[in-house]
Amino acid sequence: MAAYQHILFAADLAEDADQVGRRAVDLARRTAARLSLIHVVEHLGPAGSNELAPPAMPLQLGGAAPAIPPKGTDDDVVQNARQFLDRLAERLGVVDSQRWVVASHFTKREIHRVAKEQDVDLIVVGSHGRHGLALLLGSTADAVLHGAPCDVLAVRVARTESLPAR
Ligand code: AMP
Repeated sequence: MAAYQHILFAADLAEDADQVGRRAVDLARRTAARLSLIHVVEHLGPAGSNELAPPAMPLQLGGAAPAIPPKGTDDDVVQNARQFLDRLAERLGVVDSQRWVVASHFTKREIHRVAKEQDVDLIVVGSHGRHGLALLLGSTADAVLHGAPCDVLAVRVARTESLPAR
């Protein structure tokens, strides 16, 4: 196994982030790599600027991770994303990890930028194995792979929904 120095886990705010994250944590432990987390807050209005947040504040834990509210100011959304990442890191047992919350329309570009700036040698993303139209529209995993400054691991995300009864 390649000996990675710095692994960047790109986390969305979906339920399967834990599943992908566990893989990133496992790899980091096996290779004695440093682990960082990044979430790009997408769909901000025109006022949304690129904000590179410093490492997360001390954790306020307890209870389930909050859902990201569909409405709110850009600041609210960024703050909620920070809390989500903090709680995700807690569940994964990596409270010492460095966490980046970036507000931008350009998810791939920001993940690549932070990867370059932080000397990351492996980016870990989830892959949902889409078909049909969803596949044509592309995914963040595909986007991150293209032009990445380092290795990219796409962790296959198991589907949790059950098939409809016939
Ligand atoms: P998707 O585009 O939904 O197929 O996402 C695939 C994977 O890309 C997710 O499992 C995450 O690892 C990563 N990802 C998606 N959206 C974001 C985001 N806004 N910030 C960071 N990583 C993301």
